[in-house]
Amino acid sequence: MHTGKRHGYDYTPLFKFLLSRVGDDWGVVHSEAVARLDCEEPITWMVAPDLSAGKPFIRTGESTYYSGLYVDEANKLAVVDPNVTHQTMVPSCACCTHTFNGKRFTAAFVD
Ligand SMILES: [Zn+2]
Repeated sequence: MHTGKRHGYDYTPLFKFLLSRVGDDWGVVHSEAVARLDCEEPITWMVAPDLSAGKPFIRTGESTYYSGLYVDEANKLAVVDPNVTHQTMVPSCACCTHTFNGKRFTAAFVD
């Protein structure tokens, strides 16, 4: 499992940037994202080349999750499963603050 930090970089701004550009042309979004990065790898953690390779959500830290994205047939950035939200995610422990796309999970941990 990848962490959100590598070489001292915090990729939170990248994940938030990609989320904010859902529906936009992937060629444009990709070149803007690459311009901000030291390497392209963190983009591939979140964005799959097509829906079949996509994941409903990604985990970027101990209790930090984001939507999985993919590039659709029209070459637009899209959400793999829009039904997955901070309201549907269930925490895996009681001690951490779990977030999805920067929002706290609303469900409580059930032992
Ligand atoms: Zn915990």
